[in-house]
Amino acid sequence: MNSILSISNLNFKYNAVEVLKDISFDVYPGDYIGLVGNNGSGKTTLVKVILGLLKPYTGSISLFGQVPEQFHGWDKVGYMPQNLSLFNPIFPATVEEVISLGILSKKRFPKRINGRDKKTVNEVLDRLEITNLKYQLVGNLSGGQQQRIFLAQAIITKPELLILDEPGNSLDPAANERFFSILDDMNKNHKTTIILITHDIGQIGEYANKLLYINQKIIFYGSFVDFCKSPEISKLFGVNTQHIICHQHN
Ligand code: ADP
Repeated sequence: MNSILSISNLNFKYNAVEVLKDISFDVYPGDYIGLVGNNGSGKTTLVKVILGLLKPYTGSISLFGQVPEQFHGWDKVGYMPQNLSLFNPIFPATVEEVISLGILSKKRFPKRINGRDKKTVNEVLDRLEITNLKYQLVGNLSGGQQQRIFLAQAIITKPELLILDEPGNSLDPAANERFFSILDDMNKNHKTTIILITHDIGQIGEYANKLLYINQKIIFYGSFVDFCKSPEISKLFGVNTQHIICHQHN
C-alpha cells in the first residue's frame, strides 16, 4: 500500500535550536495516529512541517507523493489548529460563514461560494448535528459547539488526511466523547486518515490504531497493542504507568 505521508530523517531547528531530530515514519490510508509527547516535545512543530508552514533543516517529506512546497492537493488535507479560544468572540461571523471559509480557502479562481458549496455546507452541518446552529454567531456558542464548527470547517472538502491539534482540550466530558465518536465514524466509515495531537495518551488509546510518541526524536511508533507490550516502554514509563495508559489495571 502506498503511504499518504512519508517522512525520512527529518531534522528541524528554530534558529540554532534543534527541536526535531532524525524523525522517520510513514502514514498509510485509514491510519488513526495519536501523536503524543510532553509539552515542548515538538508535536506542533512536526505538524507545521508536514503542512509546509515550516521548512525542514534536513531530511525529506512526501505528502501524497509530493514535497509540500510543490503540493497542490491541499483540499485532500484538513487541519484543525490548537487554541480555538483565541478566536475573537465578537467577530460577527455566523456558523455558515465560518464553515464556508473552509471551502473558500481551498478554492482557486473564482473564490466564490456557489449553490453546490451551500449544499455541501448543509450536508456537513447535518452530519455533525449542528444544523440548528447555522445562522448563529460563532462567538456566542459554547466551547464544544465551536469545536464542532471548526471540525466542520476542516472536513468540508472531504479531506483524505485530517490533522487535529489538541482538539479535546477545552471540552467537557460529554462534548469530548461526542467529538471523538465523530472522528471515529469518519475514520471507520469514511476511511479518513487521522493524525491527532494530544497529551492524553490514555484517551487516544481507545480510538487510535497507532501511537507516535515523540520527544524531539521518536520514542515509539507502532500499534497501541505493541506499545502496551513493549519492554522498552515499561522501562521508560515504569510498568504501572504503562498499565494505566493501557487500561490494564491489576
Ligand atoms: P509541543 O507541540 O509538543 O508542545 P512545540 O512544537 O510547540 O511542542 O515546541 C517544540 C519546541 O520548540 C519547544 O521547546 C518550543 O519552546 C520551541 N518553539 C516552538 N515554536 C517556536 C518558535 N516559533 N520559535 C522558537 N522556538 C519555538
